Amino acid sequence: MVGFYGCPLRCKYCLNPHSFAPDTKTEELTPTELYERLKCDDLYFVATGGGVSFGGGEPLLNIDFLEEFKGIVGDRWRILAETSLSVEKEAVKRAVKVFDEFVVDIKDTDPEIYLSYTGKRVDRALNNLKMLLSLVGSDKVLVRLPLIPHYNTEESRQKSEALLREMGVTRFDRFEYIVRA
Ligand code: SF4
Repeated sequence: MVGFYGCPLRCKYCLNPHSFAPDTKTEELTPTELYERLKCDDLYFVATGGGVSFGGGEPLLNIDFLEEFKGIVGDRWRILAETSLSVEKEAVKRAVKVFDEFVVDIKDTDPEIYLSYTGKRVDRALNNLKMLLSLVGSDKVLVRLPLIPHYNTEESRQKSEALLREMGVTRFDRFEYIVRA
């Protein structure tokens, strides 16, 4: 997993808050430098159909970097994005040519729940998800639907799933956040 610094959301139970904390120590690499770090696994990736996952933070904020990295590894490595899709539409269009699979952390589709949990409106993520499904098909998209204590309920999660199925989503990852006091 390669984690990018920077995220447009501020999820209340973010597992990776150092991906946007101002005092996080980051390391700047070019796509070639990242490839140099990872290429010791080239044979293994090619033999097993493996590759690299990009998360963060929000990887799609760095689409220039990702396109360049894809240009280096071509189709030899499988490349996966873990994304909220709460990004510019243009970045999603370009990401289609980079990634073999998208894990979309949609959280909840209810506008009020999404806003209170992430600090942002859900519309952009949902519009981007619709576009992504039309461009790559449902097989390449896995949608995360968490049960989030104090923010959503099993009922709202089921409503989200119904809406997402109508949109064409067929693959779901349902789980529950465990919040420690
Ligand atoms: S999208 Fe991910 S990295 Fe960004 S705030 Fe939410 S949980 Fe944290």
